[in-house]
Amino acid sequence: MLCYAHGERNAPVRLIGLHQMPITNHIISHTVMLLSISFVVGLCIGSFLNVVAYRLPIIYQHNYAKQCREFLSLNEAPVKEGAWTDDRVFNLKTPSSHCPSCNHRIAPWENIPVISYFLLKGKCSSCKAKIPAHYPCVEFITGIITVLVVYSFGLGWLTLPFLILTWSLFTLALIDSNNQFLPDEITLPVLWLGIFISSLDLNSEVNLNESVTGAIAGYTSLWFFNFLYKLVRKKEGIGHGDFKLFSALGAWLGWQSLLPIIVFSSTVGSIYGVLAIILLRKDKFTPIPFGPFLTGAGFIFLLWGEQLNKFFMGFLGGQ
Ligand SMILES: [Zn+2]
Repeated sequence: MLCYAHGERNAPVRLIGLHQMPITNHIISHTVMLLSISFVVGLCIGSFLNVVAYRLPIIYQHNYAKQCREFLSLNEAPVKEGAWTDDRVFNLKTPSSHCPSCNHRIAPWENIPVISYFLLKGKCSSCKAKIPAHYPCVEFITGIITVLVVYSFGLGWLTLPFLILTWSLFTLALIDSNNQFLPDEITLPVLWLGIFISSLDLNSEVNLNESVTGAIAGYTSLWFFNFLYKLVRKKEGIGHGDFKLFSALGAWLGWQSLLPIIVFSSTVGSIYGVLAIILLRKDKFTPIPFGPFLTGAGFIFLLWGEQLNKFFMGFLGGQ
């Protein structure tokens, strides 16, 4: 499945997606097998993303509250029953997965992505408490986006980095939707990884210069917009995590993708905002997390950026 073409100075290795290969029965059978394996890997990664999206905000908020108390020389906060305290280990691995209602430890057969949810009929095997449907949904969506990335880029040096980017974007979207913040623990490593990958000169679409310019332009453009917003409205308009996320997208996709990404994400975000007010009767002052729209647009541009950039540039140039 490896398929490379050598190009000019800035494009030493070019990945060719599976859909661009000549169609033969041999390739089709290998493609189906590769995509099936990708889907299963995606399901398992989705199971892990569920853990990260649930636990990372708790860890982040706990550490942040602790730092604030230390900075302000305040006493420890009163401990609520069942709350996490410093003498209790809590990270992505510990404690092992358990039912939040009855503390039943989840057995391996109860932890098979998507399948276990249906085997258990969406209920805890011990206390019959409902298992939220978003867990199998996250696993299934991760399977689908993994297949899309492998189908688009084939197998090559960039496949794993692009998958890490995709899984990170999805995790950020989940965390921002539920907690309204984007943790530095994900945005910053993704940003630096994007610049590092560009520095290896593997990506024919984005060279190091375009990547660094994209990272700087991504951060400063939203920072400047927020600065103007604060001058006029006397409050923050965009979360600082969004600056870093946009910067990371610039590092991976190049500065050329930033304008279409911001236009696309803010248009879809605005439409969602209006629909939320009308259909869900949300207050018009309720803040809407921007991260899911940015990450969604970033993923779309990862897969179809070349075509969309051409379309966008042609549109701007009146062609
Ligand atoms: Zn239970």
